[in-house]
Amino acid sequence: AAEKKTMADHLRKYEALFTLTPQRMRMIVNAFEETLDRGLQKDGEIVPMIPTFVFGYPDGTETGEYLALDLGGTNLRVCLVTLRGQGKFEITQTKYKLTDEQKQDDGQKLFDFCAECLASFITDNLGRTSEDPELPLSFTFSYPCAQTRIDHGELIRWTKGFGAPNVEGHDVAAMFAESLAKFNVPIKLTSLINDTTGTLIASNYVDPNTKIAVIFGTGCNAAYMETVGNIPKMKHLGLPDDQEMAINYDIIIDESSNKPGEQSFEKMIAGLYLGEVFRLVLTEMIDAGDLFLGQNTYKLEKEYAMDTAFLSLMESDPTDELLTVVGVFTYFFGIETTLEERQFFRSLAKLIGTRAARLSACGIAAIVSKKGYLEKGCSVGADGSLYNKYPGFADRIHQALVDIFGEAGRQVPAGCITGLIETDFA
Ligand code: ADP
Repeated sequence: AAEKKTMADHLRKYEALFTLTPQRMRMIVNAFEETLDRGLQKDGEIVPMIPTFVFGYPDGTETGEYLALDLGGTNLRVCLVTLRGQGKFEITQTKYKLTDEQKQDDGQKLFDFCAECLASFITDNLGRTSEDPELPLSFTFSYPCAQTRIDHGELIRWTKGFGAPNVEGHDVAAMFAESLAKFNVPIKLTSLINDTTGTLIASNYVDPNTKIAVIFGTGCNAAYMETVGNIPKMKHLGLPDDQEMAINYDIIIDESSNKPGEQSFEKMIAGLYLGEVFRLVLTEMIDAGDLFLGQNTYKLEKEYAMDTAFLSLMESDPTDELLTVVGVFTYFFGIETTLEERQFFRSLAKLIGTRAARLSACGIAAIVSKKGYLEKGCSVGADGSLYNKYPGFADRIHQALVDIFGEAGRQVPAGCITGLIETDFA
């Protein structure tokens, strides 16, 4: 009989599977660039390149008070943004956690909840009376929408685990406006945008060198500015060729596909899935009889039982005995682990987290290369919990950009604009 595999044997196997060499990354960047071009040519391509009807960058002199409501995959945020000009701004933000039921319940109810949160935010934070002019509000709705105007957008399909009926194919701005009217919320809905487009514009306001924005949160996604002449599928609109328009590309490739072996880009990167990739490796080893023999593993066998935040925790465990890893497995899954197993788990988390960062870098590099941004360099506005909280995620992206482009890769720093004042209701 074959000798029992050690944890080191397993690690070698997964290292080979998860490691992206610089050469492989360059191939991915090239393929990605072609895919982006195809997405600009016509609709229905693998990577939908979605016109946003956001025409050009701000010039940094914009001032005033604006409201934003951000419906992400995990949280609902309401923000009051005060633009001070010269790239300066302040934000007051309140965060509300969405329940799983709300994500699946009737769509109008979801927008009613958004309107109610907004109404309470206005009451709590803004001493406004009905005589005051209505504040403009942008609805940051981070799901792929078909837009033909800035203040309108039909949901193409839910992503990130949402499934609320009666929303796909509908104008979400109109649905939200209906909820706003129902609750008499004194605001004017002026735009519907994606979080990446918002990050692109906001980061460019602060640092005009910002040309790309990326989000690594529940999902992953990016935006950049394209000239209309380079967007064949928009020719029929008759806009001037040199007009700039932000393009949001929705990296999810085909989430609903159940074809075995077909892996989407997002599934290898985004916060919603990294924990699941880790869990699947463990269940593979459990099924092979190489892990947790004689222990009850039912908690670990539940789909999506492993949050990506656990991978962060394991990677940043400061103890020699890996006591944080012990904690994760005993507390959440009722499983005993040996030190050798824990070392394997931490290494595995690192492989999965690193692959995600390196693939993310490929997405960034494809735009850099397509737009010729390497020569002068450009900043990348980045946001999302994975980017902000996963240990070393930003450093790994930077290293990958150097692996792809050589030293010139240092010309593309990614960073998050800060200055949030958060009240957390999560
Ligand atoms: P949204 O996508 O709703 O805007 P976030 O940017 O907060 O929200 O991203 C939420 C995702 O980030 C979840 O999938 C969660 O698993 C992941 N996440 C939360 N905390 C951490 C963490 N400490 N490390 C890594 N991932 C995290």
